[in-house]
Amino acid sequence: MIFSTYAFRCPRCAKTYKKSVSPLFLGPGSRVCGMCGAGFSDGSAEWPQLTPQEQRLFLLPPTILGWLGGIAVCVIAAFQYARPDDSISLPGFAFVMLFVPTLGPCFLFRAYQVRQSSARYDKAMRSSLGMSVDGRP
Ligand SMILES: [Zn+2]
Repeated sequence: MIFSTYAFRCPRCAKTYKKSVSPLFLGPGSRVCGMCGAGFSDGSAEWPQLTPQEQRLFLLPPTILGWLGGIAVCVIAAFQYARPDDSISLPGFAFVMLFVPTLGPCFLFRAYQVRQSSARYDKAMRSSLGMSVDGRP
């Protein structure tokens, strides 16, 4: 694996239930272990519940920032070799070749996770509001 990851483990049986490049991940906050059946708080939270700092940490964890920095260095280096009459832009080419296969899918996946998480959160909010309006449990 080219990205270093954080592993999240069940507190009872230590089975890894999640690996992420971010030190935090999105979810409803609790889960049941698929291995031993223990229920526990898994440390996740939904996107709207995160502080702006946590949202930034989710989107740009240190590993991703490291990659972005590396790509930036390569793109800047490519400017040194670019000629005004080049048919393709060398820095642009370097960016596309380095970014698209690595961080591109990563950011797309993050965007998808954020959407899913926001939808889950909205649904949970609506159902809890519905309950309090009805006065039923
Ligand atoms: Zn377990």
